Amino acid sequence: MSEKIAKSDAEWRSELTPEQYRVMRQKGTERAFTGAYWNTKEPGTYLCAGCGTALFSSEAKYDSGTGWPSFWAPINPATVGTEIDRSLFAVRTEVHCSRCGAHLGHVFPDGPAPTGQRYCINSVSLKLAGSADGDTSGGG
Ligand code: FE
Repeated sequence: MSEKIAKSDAEWRSELTPEQYRVMRQKGTERAFTGAYWNTKEPGTYLCAGCGTALFSSEAKYDSGTGWPSFWAPINPATVGTEIDRSLFAVRTEVHCSRCGAHLGHVFPDGPAPTGQRYCINSVSLKLAGSADGDTSGGG
């Protein structure tokens, strides 16, 4: 179901916006309260902006007060991978798309019930698809 996607750096650079490239391929972070989805409450499914994999549901989205879209769980744990991130003088857990490797954000153990997890995700790594269906065509 989730065949891995391997594209060259040049391919990603041409397909993504500069901000997407910086965050998703260079593990950057968008500024808090500036992304498209930090305050979004619409129902729907958040897809990976790199490959269209369904990553997070609006049903698991909550207001963390951080200025980034926050979720207490992914739709399917297999679709997101994690690795230890020792940058910025702290040990954090980096979160990425299992399929295309796009950096998504970080996960912290201070989320709400039922998981206690906070997936702190950059808006620019996501694309919200309405609850109607999973048609991801026609995007910009
Ligand atoms: Fe992806």
